[in-house]
Amino acid sequence: EISSSEEAIKLENKYGAHNYHPLPAVLSRGEGVFMWDVEGKKYYDFLAAYSAVNQGHCHPKIVDAMKKQAETLSLTSRAFYNDMLGKFEKFACEFFGFDKLLPMNTGAEAVETAIKICRKWAYEVKGIKEQEAEIIVCENNFHGRTTTIISFSNDEDARKDFGPYTPGFIKIPYDNTEALEKALKENKNIAGFLVEPIQGEAGVYVPSDGYLKKAKELCEQHNVLFIADEIQSGIARTGKILAVDHEGVKPDMVTLGKAISGGVYPVSAVLASNEVMNVIKPGQHGSTYGGNPVAAAVAIASLEVVRDEKLAENSEKLGELFRAELNKYIKTSKVVDRVRGKGLMNAIIINDTEDSSTAWDICMALKENGLLAKPTHGNIIRFTPPLVITEEQLLDCVSIITKTIETF
Ligand code: PLP
Repeated sequence: EISSSEEAIKLENKYGAHNYHPLPAVLSRGEGVFMWDVEGKKYYDFLAAYSAVNQGHCHPKIVDAMKKQAETLSLTSRAFYNDMLGKFEKFACEFFGFDKLLPMNTGAEAVETAIKICRKWAYEVKGIKEQEAEIIVCENNFHGRTTTIISFSNDEDARKDFGPYTPGFIKIPYDNTEALEKALKENKNIAGFLVEPIQGEAGVYVPSDGYLKKAKELCEQHNVLFIADEIQSGIARTGKILAVDHEGVKPDMVTLGKAISGGVYPVSAVLASNEVMNVIKPGQHGSTYGGNPVAAAVAIASLEVVRDEKLAENSEKLGELFRAELNKYIKTSKVVDRVRGKGLMNAIIINDTEDSSTAWDICMALKENGLLAKPTHGNIIRFTPPLVITEEQLLDCVSIITKTIETF
């Protein structure tokens, strides 16, 4: 039995790989927008596990669906059919407006899947010569941690000493349709354009209005698949079901993960049209756990909660309020330069250099004051609470945040 935070941290340090640098909060319970540490201190969760817990911690409806299914049938593999997967596929296709779904487990796997489908489509439908397909990606992207995905990252920590890298990717600046047009014109072998509708890990970087719409048009003109990675920005986080909905864009493929399971079980998926998804034939892709009955039951329940509790609407409304309140404060602040975001996917930019520790120190002080958040890229602090947060709770959090920053 772990009796103190210190003991838990020591254990992880001794027996775990040191592949993260967590804030020293050791959590043992969660409910809705709150988490408690092993000493019993209560916190607002302002990260929501990188937007996986949009429905709030331990949502009873989702946990119930998981328990019931775990007691009934948990795993068949795809060697046989199960009576839950089809239901999940139909529900999700109708929910997001696509023809077909391919189920996986983690976000990175969904991105890998989209890359494979895109390449296969390029050879079999578009007619690109084998081995020559290229996918355009954006600078400062984050799509996961596999060897192929880090091959097209420009984060040195993510890449260095993990080569040789997978070829077949062209990197262009984000939020730049001229660069996209140039790349599309210069190269006849482009299969797809993989993009985050808002760059989350880069620091909640919101592109200019019209960027996604224009990018989609360019992709259409050049017969190139527009692939939206909505793993972080999707499922009501930005105030719409998908972030591309803000511009009325229908991607050719969408990757989903994180909140598709409300944070209780690893579930991810790729959505596409029949024409695109049908390039995948038996034996060409899969995963032992992908599409298992528990995942299917959990994902249906999680999406039902998003719909029934109107989480997109709440995110849109409270996101506006959050930025308005912080903007009032920032006018007179020397510490915070800006707040930016959409819905409840926001970040503040600290008036400091990327390698200073101010953002980390502010997060440590926020922790003391009962709110958990984490810096991304040195001087940026992301604020992404569960979308079930109420107006009263949000205002309470604004007050914690401004009072804490006041002390810097
Ligand atoms: N894509 C985006 C946009 C993400 O934000 C993330 C995770 O932060 C991923 C992919 C990778 O997801 P996972 O950590 O589940 O592999």
